[in-house]
Amino acid sequence: MLTFAMGNAAVAQQKKSTLYSFNKAPLKQDVYVQLPLGSIKAKGWLLKQLELQKDGFTGNAEELYPGKNDLGKDADWLGGSGNSWEKAPYYLKGLVALAYTLDNDTLKAKAQKWMNYTLDHQQESGLFGPVKMKDWWPRMPFMYALQSYYEATNDARVIPFLSKYLKYELANLDQDPLKEWGKSRAGDNIEIALWVYNKTGEKFLLQLAEKLKNQSYPWADIFNRNQFDYFGNDYQPKHMVNVAQALKFPAIYSQINQSAYYTDALENGISHLLEHNGQPHGLASGTERLSGKSSVQGVETCTVVEWMQSLETASRILHDVQIGDQLEKVAFNALPAQYSKDLKQHTYYTLPNQVISVRGPHGFNQDYGNGIVPGPYSGFPCCRYNMHMGWPYFVKNSWAATPDGGLSVITYGPMTVTARVAQDAQVTIDEETGYPFEEQIKMNVKLNRPTYFPLRFRIPSWCIKPVVKINGQLVSGVKRGEQLLIKRKWSNRDQIVLEFPMHLKTEQQVNNGISIERGPLVFALKIDEEKKNIKEFSVKGFYETEITPNSPWNYGLLTESGDINKNVTLVRSSIPENPFVQEQAPLKLKMKAKLIPSWTLDYKGTAAFDVPFSPVLSNEKTEEVTLVPFGATNLRVSIFPTIGMPKYTDMNYLENFDHNTSKGLVVYGGAWYYKDNAIHSAPNEDGRSGPGIKAIATATKFADFIYSANISISTAGDAGLLFRVTEPAIGSEAYKGYYVGLNAKAGTLTFGKSSNNQWKAISSSNYPLEMNKIYNVSIKAVGDSFKVYVNNSNKPVITATDNEFKVGSVGLRAYNALVTVDDLNVRAFTK
Ligand SMILES: [Zn+2]
Repeated sequence: MLTFAMGNAAVAQQKKSTLYSFNKAPLKQDVYVQLPLGSIKAKGWLLKQLELQKDGFTGNAEELYPGKNDLGKDADWLGGSGNSWEKAPYYLKGLVALAYTLDNDTLKAKAQKWMNYTLDHQQESGLFGPVKMKDWWPRMPFMYALQSYYEATNDARVIPFLSKYLKYELANLDQDPLKEWGKSRAGDNIEIALWVYNKTGEKFLLQLAEKLKNQSYPWADIFNRNQFDYFGNDYQPKHMVNVAQALKFPAIYSQINQSAYYTDALENGISHLLEHNGQPHGLASGTERLSGKSSVQGVETCTVVEWMQSLETASRILHDVQIGDQLEKVAFNALPAQYSKDLKQHTYYTLPNQVISVRGPHGFNQDYGNGIVPGPYSGFPCCRYNMHMGWPYFVKNSWAATPDGGLSVITYGPMTVTARVAQDAQVTIDEETGYPFEEQIKMNVKLNRPTYFPLRFRIPSWCIKPVVKINGQLVSGVKRGEQLLIKRKWSNRDQIVLEFPMHLKTEQQVNNGISIERGPLVFALKIDEEKKNIKEFSVKGFYETEITPNSPWNYGLLTESGDINKNVTLVRSSIPENPFVQEQAPLKLKMKAKLIPSWTLDYKGTAAFDVPFSPVLSNEKTEEVTLVPFGATNLRVSIFPTIGMPKYTDMNYLENFDHNTSKGLVVYGGAWYYKDNAIHSAPNEDGRSGPGIKAIATATKFADFIYSANISISTAGDAGLLFRVTEPAIGSEAYKGYYVGLNAKAGTLTFGKSSNNQWKAISSSNYPLEMNKIYNVSIKAVGDSFKVYVNNSNKPVITATDNEFKVGSVGLRAYNALVTVDDLNVRAFTK
């Protein structure tokens, strides 16, 4: 006889489990906890990733980065004279998790050396780590390493050590408050403080949690109200890695204050981030600041692993099935895409449409030259230390213990979990599956004696007809997007079979393009890759590798019938050891497509132009193209244009930024944000917008028109209106078309154009502009004649002629200026 129930209602009357350190009062009571590190073992393709990591960048990290300011013998975290700051703690966080997930003695010995040094050298005051280093921040990732280490080993030194440090922190935060990274990332510190509280019950830890929260950025406000850019020149709240890391902050704090303001902030934050910066794998772009939806903006490896950890933590607190859905999407797509398929290299930034990976510049706010080139030294030295936690944290967070003596599945994959349930029975559940490359997951239960305990299963939201069977009997009431709770007496050799049929679907992306998904997998165009090692490192077999395309990539998809399933053939093959190697990808899609010859590399030749606005007309022949999982690509197109009759906005365009948003303005370089129902260029740390940043209404196409807007400039530099724009890209002059710029400081209006990435002034005029004053600027463009009016003057301020550009999009541009723009209004002249 099967018994099952939905939701948590029946749990209340049960006695709370003491098998694991669940939340003590007054913390929220129904929170799940991580199983001790090592409880979950990976198998199959997932184990292969961990093993490659062991033989690749994690197992060789100390040899690859041997300097004293890195992970060498003379590193500060080993008592040496170096200054590795966050590097060693980042590395150790991943190393400990990998070592004990794999149960590998060599990796454990490596980790032990670092754990021992720090545990044995705590200062009398309670401070730990490098004596010279006063920064709170690097100690936060080190505490995660200690947490994992303790859970795996029960080393008796750890809890008193952490308790003493956290007491020191409470006593010293007033005189030495959180700043910069620590002020952004203190959610991590709070998570550890509460974890220790659940072990020791020391009330000062709750006080510490409040103090840390009060000294941090107001993340719940920022996420609930889309306020990333509300802090002026302060880069921290718009730094994408901080944002990804802070996603868990309100959820962590909601264990203390269960108001919806904290419990809803994760969902609200993700929704704002994706609305303005979303990419096909469900992450927001950031190079390194939030950087819009363009298909050629990047995601940093740190963002991927921190966003994953945030979802892992939040899923235990909030129990929202969507969080697990989002986590799988990031883990199965974005994460493997950041790594080379032998896990010896990472790419600092990956782009949704990355058709070439060569040294830059690329025009990103933080560029680094080799930021999109795979290697052990790609980009800035953070990701190469922080990335090691990606897969091992995914494994250790895939199941959690529930306070009613059961287990909950957060994410699926080939794994075996061994845990204590009920009144201390040991259960092993073996997940037999090739998920997400297969739709079926068989779970085989091993128990010494029949035991009554609850199991919770995440039923993915994307699954239209999920089926769950226990010992061949259908379970009723299985609903997608909900948690399925099954409470019963489980016996040895019980088998749960979960079937999650995967359907193809499209998601709308930037420029009316589409991305293609099947279950938790995102698909991308298979591009033949030409690899060239441009640098060899001291460890044999480690290279920096440029990759160029050896097959066409500029395709638009044919999707006329509307139903994507009718246009696609799914080709399955057996799941290889490593499914992220493109040639042997176990799932491939065959689709009809046409080349778009006008879609080429951009002006710099280091990236494609942004995906053209869809539909796109193509007279090329119909071809069949192959798509592979996003994670199996190094080069890729994952935001596709569609082929068809173009439909532009060409008569009227109005945008008044009401509700602090806009439709279809695409950002190219720098950033723009919405506040007080207007759009503003966002400052970098130097208080300037960056050179030639643009926001283009890519759905518009105007020839002859009047284009007006209200413009107010508050700094030096110029800003104003772009029109008849085609081929916008990241970079100051990276567009074709016209620009009218106002310089309030100099009191000038300039009319000019950019062609072939070169600025040419056409005409300029003095005008008594003042800073912070609103001017209505209107441009009348008819054929080759242009007139610019200010504040509805009868006489134009600028009159000029030029015949280079006939038609194109309208937009905004700022050149190192902070500007506020409102009430865009374009009216075409009918012929
Ligand atoms: Zn990084």
